[in-house]
This record gives sequence, C-alpha cells and structure tokens, in this order.
Amino acid sequence: MTRVLFVFLDGVGLGPPTEHNPLHTLDLPALSALAGGQRWTADAEPVRQPAHVFVPLDATLGAEGLPQSGTGQTALFTGVDAVALHGRHYGPYPPTATHETLRTDSVYNRLQRNGIESLAFANAYPERFFRAMEARGRWTATTRMARAAGVRLRTAADLAIGHALPADITGERWRRHLDPDHVPVSPAEAGRRLLALARECRFTLFEYPYTDTAGHGRDGLRPEHVLPEVDAFLGEILRQRGETDLLVVSSDHGNVERPTTKSHTRNPVPLVALGPGAEAFAEATSLLDVTPAIVRALTA
Ligand SMILES: [Zn+2]
Repeated sequence: MTRVLFVFLDGVGLGPPTEHNPLHTLDLPALSALAGGQRWTADAEPVRQPAHVFVPLDATLGAEGLPQSGTGQTALFTGVDAVALHGRHYGPYPPTATHETLRTDSVYNRLQRNGIESLAFANAYPERFFRAMEARGRWTATTRMARAAGVRLRTAADLAIGHALPADITGERWRRHLDPDHVPVSPAEAGRRLLALARECRFTLFEYPYTDTAGHGRDGLRPEHVLPEVDAFLGEILRQRGETDLLVVSSDHGNVERPTTKSHTRNPVPLVALGPGAEAFAEATSLLDVTPAIVRALTA
C-alpha cells in the first residue's frame, strides 16, 4: 500500500541559472537527484517516468502580481484556485474567502472522503504558536486545514520523543528561540525521524518555511545556510525510504532562487514525485494539480 510523504518547501522557484541563483551555484546532490541529475533551475528538463516525475508548476495561476503563501498554499493543498476566490494573490495567511475551502476541501478532507484516515502533519508547534493563533484567529493554511480535518497539530511533547519535527528540521532554532534544553539533531537524523513517522500513516505532510525566510533575507538566514540542510535532510530520506514510499516535494511560489531582491518571484515552482504512483503527477502544470494527483496516487 502506497504511502505519501509530502515535503513542502516554502518559497522555492525554478529561476534562471545565474551566478546569483543559489539553486544553481550551490552543490546540492539530493536536490539534483530529485531532478534526475539536474540543478533546480528553469533550464532543467522535465522528468516523466513511471516512478519519477520532476516538472515545473505555474504558481501565478494566471493572475497579476507576486504569488503569496496564503493563496498559493491553499491552491497547492486543496486544488482550488484560491487566487480566483480572493481576487488576487494574498499572504502570508490565507484570506477569509479561502477559509471554507481549507475547511472542507483540503488534501486531508479529500483523502478522508476516499476512506483514507491515517493522515499526519509532522510539524511540532510551540505553545506560544497556539496562543498567538487562537488570540488572532489567524492560522496558516496548513494548520487551518489540519485542524478542520481533525489531523492533530503536534506539540513540544511530541518533539521531545521524536514524534514530530521542528519547522527548521534540526531543532537549532527551536533550541535558540523556544527551549534552551532542546537537543538539535543532524538533518539526516531528522530525515530518519520523519520517515519513521510517515511509515505509520498513508499521508504525511511536513512544512519547511525557512527557504522563504532566507529568500527574504530575514532572521539572518541565507540560502547557503538553509539549502544544504534541506539537501542533507532530503538525501537521507532518499537513501532510507521504502519501496512503498512516494516522496512528493513542491513549493508555493519562488523566492530563494533570487535572493538579490528579497521579494517573491513569478518563477515556476518544482514538483517532484518519486516512488510508486509518481505517474499520477506527470501531467501536472500548476499548483492546482498537486492535491488531485496525491488523491489519485493513493486511491489508484
Ligand atoms: Zn514569503
């Protein structure tokens, strides 16, 4: 029985292969392997094989302006055109016009309607996140849809026993900003923990926000800090994944590939599907096509 592990990377686009594009200049062997031996740039040739797909996805959804996380993630995780619902790109939080879609039509809801119940969201959230979100009623796309579908949001207690991942993969930021006693792990160990968690479920999502943060040049983060960690993490997942694991990697909009501007880009985003059922993703052309493909891969 196929299991899907979806590693969502915020703010990763396929840009021109220039000297300023860290996805072109850095040595990132796992990302290259996921693209069939190519760097993640606009020049990469699509890969469409039965068990391996790498294609660019349109993140603009035909609308003017720069794609944003609220509408982009909603489109990615529901298959519904959230930019059309709201009238324009919007973020980072999903706009009110998308809330009903996130409540009833997310990838979690769609899998549940197909009788697939063992669904996970692997990120750990600190207590202060819950307090802030509840106070403002302002949830991110992923936490909003997970809550609505009854998929548990994991906490510091889950993280402490290795049953959740901190958003920064290694836990270094969790230690620095949240809990000085927290013990960070290597990206490879984080990859093994995520795989162990994903083996207990049919569909597991992990969200990594810091590629976007680095693209914005915020928090002192730079692409050359975060991309090698992401690469080591995905490299271990590639090495350790089982025969029935379908790995999906994608993003909501470009950003980190053009760190010189600090804003999002209109570049296409990568879609990787590696493993059994990957062919369900072969014809995907935009953010809207990912959730339907996940449902197809798990119900075929
Ligand atoms: Zn951003």
